[in-house]
This record gives sequence, structure tokens and C-alpha cells, in this order.
Amino acid sequence: MNNWDNIIGNEQVKEYLMTAIKTGILSHSYIIAGADGMGKMMLAKCFAQALLCENKTGHPCGQCHSCKQMQSGNHPDVIFVKHEKVNTIGVDDIRNGLVNDMLIKPYSSEHKIYIVDEAEKMSLQAQNALLKTIEEPPTYGIVILLTSNIEASLPTILSRCMVLNMKPVSDKQMDTYLKQKGLESRVIDRVLLFAQGNIGRAEKMALSEKFFSLVEQILYILKNIADMKFEQLLDSVDQLEKYKINITECLDYMQLWYRDVLLFKATSDGNLIVFKDEIRYISNAAKRSTYNGIESIMKAIEKAKRRLDANVNFELTMELLLLEIKDNS
Ligand SMILES: [Zn+2]
Repeated sequence: MNNWDNIIGNEQVKEYLMTAIKTGILSHSYIIAGADGMGKMMLAKCFAQALLCENKTGHPCGQCHSCKQMQSGNHPDVIFVKHEKVNTIGVDDIRNGLVNDMLIKPYSSEHKIYIVDEAEKMSLQAQNALLKTIEEPPTYGIVILLTSNIEASLPTILSRCMVLNMKPVSDKQMDTYLKQKGLESRVIDRVLLFAQGNIGRAEKMALSEKFFSLVEQILYILKNIADMKFEQLLDSVDQLEKYKINITECLDYMQLWYRDVLLFKATSDGNLIVFKDEIRYISNAAKRSTYNGIESIMKAIEKAKRRLDANVNFELTMELLLLEIKDNS
């Protein structure tokens, strides 16, 4: 059910939208920005439902006709703009799904709301087509762009939109939330490390059967890489390929590990590090590596992320990364 309370954290953004509904001071276009899993779509849906709710309290009542339509996913005045190709939102997607459609008045509400998910995939032409609409929208028209990469938006689009940034959720809030879901503390502790304030990621990880073996696999590599032979490295890459789908999380996890190594090298203070249980390994790695070496490793992890984003071959990318780590360990 769409409800502000179901969105964890992000109090300021929720408060802002609730006030906008109550006062009627609305923008015609919003950008909700944040990584996948941060709750952008939940926020957009809740906002749309609360705005169209017949009771107009700033909260979705869940009882009125409009709320029921929204909850069944069939609200005629809330349009989820679709796109034909997986990797791009083209000019025709925006023209047909939004620009032309907005000329038709709302069916039953005061507003007609368009939600564009993955707006970072909009082509330049698509953005330009959208620009005309958000410059002079009909009074009822509202556009909500959800983006995981705000840099991909044209400045002219940005300047027309109210930008709302999703913030990472505190570990305490995540802990409470995951406990309510019935997860054990042992699972939650590990998940929190991985999730770094991203509630969707935390949930996905916590519910994934592969999660623990993934963590074990990465920890094994991080702890032993200095002594691994080349064949063992290749074998590790094979093992990691099973978790290809979670590779971003894997790389984030590696970064966290080396941040600890760096911190421990600089301070020798075990209380500051995240991987407290693994202090023996962190301290060994800190002794073995130079500052420059740790920096090279951090850079190599960043580079691997960029390569994978650009669809460079998985095995090759990971081999190069593990070799770079080994060389500097
Ligand atoms: Zn309602």
C-alpha cells in the first residue's frame, strides 16, 4: 500500500511533498534523484496517490475511489511512461506517452500525473521534446522524473524541475525496519555493511539465498589475495561470476574493506573500522601495503565499476582488478 510511513527515512522530502499537497503549492515537474533501491518509485506513487486522494489531507486515505484505483494500479490519471528499447527512452516514447497524451484532460481528477522511471535513459531529443511540455504545461499536468543519474539531465530540464534527492537511511532505521521483517541480527549486520543506507538494496540482499555465500566468497578473496596463485585468482573470478548480478555491491564491499585498510594504516585504531571482526586481516593488509598501493587498489575498483557499466567483458575486468589488488597487497 502506498503510504508515507512505508518510506523509511527521507523525512524532509516527505514533509515537503505533504506540505505541497496541503497548501496546493505544486510544481509542474519534479525530479526524484537517487540510486536504485532508494525508494524513488515508492515516493512518486505515494505522492501521486496523496495528491489525487479525495480526502486531501496530504496522506493517501486508502479508502476513496481514487486511492482504490491507484492501489489496484489502474488510476486513469496516473501514467507510467513506458519505453520500447531497454537502454534508451527515445523521443517517440516521450511524444506518444507524455507530450501528446498530456493534451487530453484528466479523466476524473484535478491533475494528470506522468511518472518517467529511469529518466537518466532519456535521449537528448527525448529531453528536448519533454522540455517544451514542462515549459508550458496545462494547469493539470505534473511530470515526475525518477533518475539514478542526475548528471544525465539537461541543465534546461533541471532548471524547470523541483529536484528532490533521496538520502541514505541511517543504520538504526534500517535495523528497525529489517527486524520488523523478521530478519535475524546476524543477517542484518552483514546486510547493513553491504547496503550503505540503501534500503532497497538491503532488502534485496537480506532476502537473497545467495547473499551469504557471496559475502563468504568476497571475504575469502580479500583475506587471501596476497598469497593466492594466478590459477586461484582465475578460479575466484569464476566463482564471482555466479554473483554477477550483484557485482556492484561486491565492488562497493571491496572498497569498504580497503577504506578500512587505509584508515587502520593511518590511525592503528580498530574502533574506527567497519570490519571489526576481521581486524587481524585488516591490520595485516595495512602492514603489507603502502599508501600508494592502497590508493592504486581503490582506483582499480573504481575503474572496474566504470568498465562493467560500459559492458566490458566481466572476466577480463575482474581479472585485471584482482591482479592489481594482488600486486599492491
Ligand atoms: Zn484517498
